[in-house]
Amino acid sequence: MTKLRSDQYCHDCQRVFVALIDLSISGNHEIQCVCGHIHYRVVVDGKVTGDRWNSKLQTTTVKKSDISEVTQIPIPTSSASHFLRDKWLNLQG
Ligand SMILES: [Zn+2]
Repeated sequence: MTKLRSDQYCHDCQRVFVALIDLSISGNHEIQCVCGHIHYRVVVDGKVTGDRWNSKLQTTTVKKSDISEVTQIPIPTSSASHFLRDKWLNLQG
């Protein structure tokens, strides 16, 4: 059985969590965040497609034991602007 570690970002609670998606099961994989928000990943032929949902396929619920919360996300904009500023300063030097 192959399980893919998949990072999920939840817009509702702004948390990043990891779900282990069983690639041996084709269909919609329903992943529930700790806040209750439902995420979907579509697996076809052992691969996660870019689709969020495929109405032709059956739905599998990812087990709670295969979902783990990682962290509160850092604020991405501040580190990005910091990086750009350093780059700009280097260019001036
Ligand atoms: Zn959430």
